[in-house]
Amino acid sequence: MGLKAFRTCGRAGCPALIKEGSHCPKHRQQAEQREYETKKADPAWRMYLHPRWKKFRQWFLRLEPAMSACH
Ligand SMILES: [Zn+2]
Repeated sequence: MGLKAFRTCGRAGCPALIKEGSHCPKHRQQAEQREYETKKADPAWRMYLHPRWKKFRQWFLRLEPAMSACH
């Protein structure tokens, strides 16, 4: 126990002390939002989220039940 358990927020200039994660609660949301924006811009990630892809995957897993063991 002690101050060693705490570190400062990952956001430059933010003096908030945090116990876990990389940002204080206030900046964590912003960091996650930025991460989501980055992912959203990735075509592979967009395809993965696409409903048609999910349907195809379900169909594929039904067709090859053994393949589902990999996931
Ligand atoms: Zn912060």
